[in-house]
Amino acid sequence: MTQSGLMTDLKSMTLEEWKEFMAGIGEKSFRAGQVYSWLHEHLAVSWEEMTSLPADLREKLSGYPLTVLEPVDVQISAIDGTRKYLFRLGDGNVIESVLMRYHHGNSVCISSQAGCRMGCRFCASTIGGLARNLLASEMLDQVYRIQKETGERVSNVVVMGTGEPLDNYDNLLRFLKILTGEGGLHISQRNVTVSTCGLVPRIYDLAGEKLQITLALSLHAPNDEKRRELMPIARKYSVDQVLAACQNYFQKTGRRVTFEYSLVAGVNDSEEDARELAGRIRRLHGHVNLIPVNPVKERTYVRSSRRNVEKFKIMLEKYGIPVSIRRSLGSDIDGACGQLRKTHMDKMKML
Ligand code: SAH
Repeated sequence: MTQSGLMTDLKSMTLEEWKEFMAGIGEKSFRAGQVYSWLHEHLAVSWEEMTSLPADLREKLSGYPLTVLEPVDVQISAIDGTRKYLFRLGDGNVIESVLMRYHHGNSVCISSQAGCRMGCRFCASTIGGLARNLLASEMLDQVYRIQKETGERVSNVVVMGTGEPLDNYDNLLRFLKILTGEGGLHISQRNVTVSTCGLVPRIYDLAGEKLQITLALSLHAPNDEKRRELMPIARKYSVDQVLAACQNYFQKTGRRVTFEYSLVAGVNDSEEDARELAGRIRRLHGHVNLIPVNPVKERTYVRSSRRNVEKFKIMLEKYGIPVSIRRSLGSDIDGACGQLRKTHMDKMKML
């Protein structure tokens, strides 16, 4: 990882680590705060622009690579202004991020991995498997580049793009600390959501981190049999085990868990499914977010009808469960999650 045990990806370092780093290169400790602010508050893209630093310090820093993502494509929805970004990483991998504009503020959906190895049957991000984990700096820079490009403050971050964030746990935590900590963008932890397919041991770990972030669990089915058809991870952990981990998350953090439920016609969208789901989660104080499945061309799943989505919602509400239906933003620009990245990679293969 480093000279003297510190990392060489300087943009992933916490303020504490910067202090040690400065001591290691013979600099005063207050310089740490200055560089940190250039990186995480002013969103600098080069060492040279850090003009409040002495030239010899900038010279020392210039020996280290600075993680900055390169936008290769931006698609803008004519309907609602949603922007989908395709970024190139230093090693040529590409990832996607989405900016959604709501009246309560701007929300950025970031990727946590290049590709994914979880294999959910309806998801485009997993088709090519996992390329690699993203560094904390690469997660941060998705937010930074978008805020810089639009000139508008990002107030919410959802880790719901490509990848399984809890499969990249250490980098995720580092990302969360820098994103929400003082001296950076200082985004409120309550405005950050991490979505997981349900890596049970990691959900327990996250509950112990004393964070106030929202956990979203991709449940998608009311029982083990149906969940196993849609999500390979359900063969490893049962619905009971996942829900127990969510209950523990709520008890430890006081934060209500969101259950994501993608409705697939004829697979998980019947009234019986809704009733069974309600029976399992009604005591968990959670909230259900219904997502009519986005069709992925490599898969045969079909989205539930508007009528079935409404019926499903009403049934859950009868049991006192709060439900929202996810508004489909940017429906005119490359449908489902992971599609933009996939389209780009397919094009590259054809060249
Ligand atoms: N790996 C994490 C986060 C990434 S996916 C997770 O599983 O939660 C973000 C959300 O989008 C998940 O709920 C996922 O199941 C859902 N999703 C993926 N592909 C989808 C599709 N084609 N239609 C609807 N929801 C989808």
